[in-house]
Parts: sequence; C-alpha cells; structure tokens
Amino acid sequence: MGDLERRFASVEKVATVYSRCSMPYQHFCHSLRNYVTLSYMAYSGQLMFRIIFFGALFLALGLGAHTAIAQNVINGPSVSTADSVIGRIYLEGMQHSHAETLAQVLMDSIGPRLTGTPANRAANNWLVRTYTAWGIPARNEQSRIYRNWTRGPSRIELMAPRVRSLEATALAWSPATPPGGVTGDVVLARDSAGWLETVRGKFVLLTAPEINCRPDSSWARYALPAEYQAMRAARDSASRVWPVVDISKLEAAGVAGILTSKWAGGWGVDKIIGAQATIAPVFDLSCEDYSLLARLATHGQHPRIHAVADVHMAPKEAPLYNTIAELKGTEHPNQYIILSAHLDSWDSGSGAIDDGTGTIIMLEAMRLLKLAYPHPKRTIIVEQWSGEEQWMSGLFHQKHPEVVRGLQAELTQDSGTGAIGYVIGPSCPGDSMTFARWVAPLPTSLIPYGIRIQPSGDTTTCRYAPSFELYSSDRDHDRYSTAWDYEPYTYHTNRDTFDKINFNDLKRTATLVALLAYEASEDHHTTRLQPPDDHP
Ligand SMILES: [Zn+2]
Repeated sequence: MGDLERRFASVEKVATVYSRCSMPYQHFCHSLRNYVTLSYMAYSGQLMFRIIFFGALFLALGLGAHTAIAQNVINGPSVSTADSVIGRIYLEGMQHSHAETLAQVLMDSIGPRLTGTPANRAANNWLVRTYTAWGIPARNEQSRIYRNWTRGPSRIELMAPRVRSLEATALAWSPATPPGGVTGDVVLARDSAGWLETVRGKFVLLTAPEINCRPDSSWARYALPAEYQAMRAARDSASRVWPVVDISKLEAAGVAGILTSKWAGGWGVDKIIGAQATIAPVFDLSCEDYSLLARLATHGQHPRIHAVADVHMAPKEAPLYNTIAELKGTEHPNQYIILSAHLDSWDSGSGAIDDGTGTIIMLEAMRLLKLAYPHPKRTIIVEQWSGEEQWMSGLFHQKHPEVVRGLQAELTQDSGTGAIGYVIGPSCPGDSMTFARWVAPLPTSLIPYGIRIQPSGDTTTCRYAPSFELYSSDRDHDRYSTAWDYEPYTYHTNRDTFDKINFNDLKRTATLVALLAYEASEDHHTTRLQPPDDHP
C-alpha cells in the first residue's frame, strides 16, 4: 500500500442509511427497517463506493459504524480537488466567511422574527437588500396573512411583601396591560366552587410551579440516589395535582393577568412561546421567580405585583412573505435546486439557533455560489419563509408548481448549530445514493463526523425529486438535532441567542450547502423520476 493509499484508507467515512424513531416528529418515526450502510473510501485519488445492505442487522452494525466514525474523524481541509469551483467555494466559505457578520445583523439588530411581526418583515426586507447588493435577483412574495403584533417593553415587579424586579416577559401575542401597567395580588389557580368569583383584579399563577429549578443532571451528580428519586417523584406529583383552569373563564372573571412558567429543565431556561388569551395579559416568569410567587401565596404572605405589557396587536392581519432569491440556470433553467430555511422564530431570545442559523446558512451559501458559480446549469433558488413555528407552510410549492415539476433537489436546514451529521427525509427511490454521490467529491472536513442518511420511510412524501433535510449531530451520532444542548438550552427558549452559535460549524454548513447545490446543478443525471420538459 503506497503513501497515498494509506492516507486515503485512513479517512474512510461511513454514512449509515437507516430509519429509526429517534425524534419527536411523528412523520420521521418509523419502525426499524432497511438499514443500509454506505461507506466510501478515498482510494488513490478516486472515490470508491462500498454499498453494504445489512437489513435488520442494523443494531450491531450501527454500533460498528459509531466506532468507525470515532476512529476516522477527519480534521482540517483534507481534500485537495482538481475542481476549481469546489476549491473556490471551499476557500471562500472557510477562510472569508461572512456568516458571523451576517448573523450579528440578523440576530442582534433585527432580532427575533415572530411570525407576522414588523421584525419578521424587516428581516424579509434585509434579506432582499443583502441579495441585491451581491447582484443576486431577490424578491418578497406574499404567502399568507397573519396576526400583526408588536412587542414592546414588558416587566413585572414584586411590590409586597418585599420589592424585587422579577425575571418576566409577556408571551408572544399577549394582550396589553392598561398604559402604565396594573397592580394586583397574586393567587394560586384553584378549581374549587366559587373560586372564580374571587379573582377579579388579581394575577393567577396558571401553571404548576416547579418544586426546585435545579436541573436533574445536578441532582443526579450531587444528591443521594434515593433522595434524587424522591425529588423526581415529588416533582411529578406536584404537576399532576395542579388544577387545570380554563383561560377564557379567567378572562370572563376579570383577572388582571395570567402568570405562567415553562421551565425547560436547564439552568435559567424557559420555553417562551405564544399566549392563548385574548383579553388578559399573559407573562412567563423564570422558574425561580414563579416558584417564589407560588411559595409566597401558599404561605399566606400576600404577594402583590406591578405588571407592564406595552404590546400592540394591530386591528388587521398583515402579509407574510417568502423571500426568494435566484441564480438562473443556463443549461436547464426549468430544473431547480431549492435551498430552504424558515426565517420566523419565537421571540424571547433572538431566534438564533431556531432558525437564524438556517437563514444564515442559505444566505451565505448563495453568496458563495454567486462568487464561484454565478451561472449554474440548473436554477438555484433560495426560499426563506415564515410561519414554521405556527405549523404553517410557506406555500412555496403550491405557488410555484413549475418549480416542483422541475425539482432536482431540495436542501433544508433547521437543526441549530453544529456540524451536519445526518440527512433526514429522502423518500424517493435512489435518493440516498444521489446524496452519497454528491457528497463524495467534497472536502471531508465539512462533515467531520461523517453523514448518516435516514430515509423518511414514507414513499408518499416523495415529490419525485430528492428532499434532504440537513441535521447537526454530535461526535457520537447519539441522536440528531440535539447537538450543542439544543434541548434544553436553546430550542424555543429565552437563551436562543447569537452567542450560542458555533461559527466554525456554521461556516462548514454554509460551504457544504453551496457545494451540494453545485453538485446537484452539475449532475449529469436529472434526479426527478419523470424528467421535466425544459422547453415549455
Ligand atoms: Zn425551526
């Protein structure tokens, strides 16, 4: 074995193709089936594919793949390529990345992009301006109309039995307090007869308070095992016995406001999403301050607060937009590669990990493509859309049947920060092989842990062309979408902020997406099962 062969043999990468129910999204959850390991080996400058179908033996082999990945982590730019476009995209993406600068503007200055808010539209406009400045044609296309709510200052002060500024924020779409705020007593939710008649002008603690706000990992480490288990049991029963009170009944009873807390299970993190109320202002309080109010109320110490929610719901709904940018294909203009990420976010943090990173990845990928591959064979479109957090689609496919007819590939990313380690969702025959073919010539440092391909297992989602959802993972390929403490720390929390992003990985993924788009565009094969008519 020569030097070169030895070098390449040592960088074997493994992509495990399998279906596994490992995520709380139902459509990705399927029974164990069709486990395929694709491994490819760089050999004397050529890539040789070894395709091994293991069927139901995946468990043993899955563990084997973990070991193989652990032993073959590839560091640094390890591939020199004769393809000048790959080389240029790689160098620009990894050495002159704009990802961090762009992310700082989006996440710090524009901030979170709650669906339908002025900030959501400001982000659409900033994207169009940015693409246009780079010479990439871009536009905002209306998709839907939605609630037009503006967040203003919100806060809560404890006034009695002592004074303290509480860690509190109005939920998205919360009704406002009267100007200047409102002061009232705080009471525990109850379901006893006649209780509703006592709550007028008061604040109600709607959700069960935590018995402590220390993460389980801390208990597991420091507590006696039996005491840790007892704490967990007490926590479970406290939430089970808490009364469920109908918000509309509280509003009808004239409450001053509704207090909630949805502790995410980590230090200082709350999941803060949307209010269900239409009249009473609704606030989230940190685990610590919410349980403080609950203890004061429980012990008859008469907590009283002053709350301000200076927010505004416009009387009319406002348009949502898809930002579309496009590099027109020269050989097959009616065949399309779509790069997609959702622009909207929840708004108690900055919407950095969910899905500011996806937005920046697609934006930076387009910059790289424009620079190194401005005249693609096939048309490359980026689609940045809103409403994802409300389980709506951006309607892009419905509004552009011509793009679906000519689809060569769709690449999406909504998995936070972290190197890409999984590809989820291929559902058409041959999709997994197509992805393996496209990724094979690319610098291995872009996927330091290798890539596992996990088909959707549901052929009814096949759009006749491959749809690849790129997911981050950790070194162990433990699960997808959990890298960098996605849960509990950033996903929909008040800590989803710019500082949580690993920009090394963001650069890698933007570069990877640009290169996959390039490979998809240049492919001699049309991936669509029924090739589109290029001459309308
Ligand atoms: Zn998301």
